[in-house]
Amino acid sequence: MNIDIKLHIDDLPDHLVISDNIAVDCEFMGLNVERDPLCLVQISTGKNDAHIIKLNRDTYEATNLKKVLKNKEINKIFHYARADLQFIKKYLKIDVENINCTKVMSKLARSYSDKHGLKDLIKEFTGNDISKNLQSSDFGGELSDKQLQYCAKDVIYLHKIYDCLNKILIREKREKLYQNAIKFIHSRVELDLASFTSDIWSH
Ligand code: MN
Repeated sequence: MNIDIKLHIDDLPDHLVISDNIAVDCEFMGLNVERDPLCLVQISTGKNDAHIIKLNRDTYEATNLKKVLKNKEINKIFHYARADLQFIKKYLKIDVENINCTKVMSKLARSYSDKHGLKDLIKEFTGNDISKNLQSSDFGGELSDKQLQYCAKDVIYLHKIYDCLNKILIREKREKLYQNAIKFIHSRVELDLASFTSDIWSH
């Protein structure tokens, strides 16, 4: 399968018409938001395409990208939005609007499984086996073809997964539960950034 990959330096191009339903993923230098900068943001419109934006890590100026992420009319599908949003908030200094998270959806919809990783969801809903070998690779420098393919694969299946999970949530009458749970995402991210990383509801 050939993915239409477009690498953009610093920002999305001007006048690019993007869909009102996009999948979003990010790559960082590591998992520690205080230490490891945000490197890439990937966007797919669900048509086997991937816009990969290599951010300017000195300025983090990306006006067009920020406009898309802040746009309330554009639905964004993340997988584990909690991590991506921490890095976006810290480095791009914006609040993303209209967020969905396939990991949270999966936990509520797929109570028959304890596997909610992206690889597991891609396998279950599309039958594809993707390799996560390049997950821990250096996204800070020149990107290899393999890295670009890897980054693209993290976003191209999300629309399909979102649709399948949504159907289960509706069928199992857990849609409202999900809608209310996902509203907490902004608070969850703020708690993480304030170092309250454990479950504040637990005893
Ligand atoms: Mn990724």
